[in-house]
Amino acid sequence: MDHIEITNLTKTYPGTDKPAVSHVSFQIKKGEIITLLGPSGCGKTTLLRLIAGFERAEKGSIIIGEKLMSDDTSFIPPEKRGVGMVFQDYALFPHLTVIENVGFGYKEEDKKDRVNEVLDLVNLRGYEKRFPHELSGGQQQRVALARALARRPLVVLLDEPFSNLDADLRDQMRVEIRNIIKNTNTTAVFVSHDQKDALAISDRIIVINEGEIQQIGTPKEIYQEPVNHFVSNFVGRTNLLPGTVLSDNKSVSTCLGMIRLPEGHPFIKEESIGVAVRPESIHVSEKDGMPATVKSFIFKGDSIDTVVAAKMPCGTEQELILSLHPDKELQTGQQVYLTILPKNISFLKMTENNQRT
Ligand code: ATP
Repeated sequence: MDHIEITNLTKTYPGTDKPAVSHVSFQIKKGEIITLLGPSGCGKTTLLRLIAGFERAEKGSIIIGEKLMSDDTSFIPPEKRGVGMVFQDYALFPHLTVIENVGFGYKEEDKKDRVNEVLDLVNLRGYEKRFPHELSGGQQQRVALARALARRPLVVLLDEPFSNLDADLRDQMRVEIRNIIKNTNTTAVFVSHDQKDALAISDRIIVINEGEIQQIGTPKEIYQEPVNHFVSNFVGRTNLLPGTVLSDNKSVSTCLGMIRLPEGHPFIKEESIGVAVRPESIHVSEKDGMPATVKSFIFKGDSIDTVVAAKMPCGTEQELILSLHPDKELQTGQQVYLTILPKNISFLKMTENNQRT
């Protein structure tokens, strides 16, 4: 049974001619963690606000926990939706202590026990009497999450919750927040423009561009089997080579040679498609493989981002980006040899979006 069901949702703001969210449909299961991922202005915050009830769609419906929250004729206001919010800046009350912040607006009889319970859950016992300015960014975030969870919401919505944290803390908080949400079996919808957040925290990712869903899948599916150039470029980096599906509809002709398409692929004969190769899927050796010259490289600590000019089997030269092991010794101008593993190649539809990016 789906816990959240969004059907054909469309929202156009007054005074604009293009919908911010257009014909969006998806389902979320109970306890699932979903990230709405996309670039600035793609409509992800609007979608979150529609689910919360801060905006009303002109078309489509929203069901949460079997209850119809919004459609063409009905609209349940935010405070009656059973939705908890965690805002980007945490929105804690500066003049209230941790315990007062977490208990704010909670009117049930078990208030004291429930507040203590969620403080345990987010590991903030001992901090009850502190004010927000006496807490670190990560601790403030945990207070905001505790406040959202205190009322046992049907779903918790989190708007870019990691964007104010520095890189180290961000890594740690992704794990912590995911664990806390999973431990409570709460359904959660994150909004993020950061692919690393989305890959680390989500059970499934919904990639959005220009108000429309591009792909829905697990982090692994989104990264390894992107369905179009927008997804493959937005989630990680990729080398994109043009290809043409052969008339047998089983292989694609590319500058690397003929590559077999997977069974059940969605392409038609003679279609122009994209062949995407991830930077970490290209192996480098001193001999054997496609010759290439190192043009530049940047040491990243855990990898070396390297740009090479490769002499492709079809005779042309193509710039490729590789991600190499940090122990690899490289010099600009050095001759290397490349091997691309067929299993790491993905095939993409060339839509209008692809051609623009
Ligand atoms: P960001 O990551 O920058 O917050 P986003 O993906 O969350 O972006 P939205 O805030 O949902 O995008 O905005 C989607 C589109 O709707 C944008 O073109 C934006 O300019 C427009 N928009 C958002 N809010 C309003 C509003 N209140 N009135 C008119 N247009 C709006």
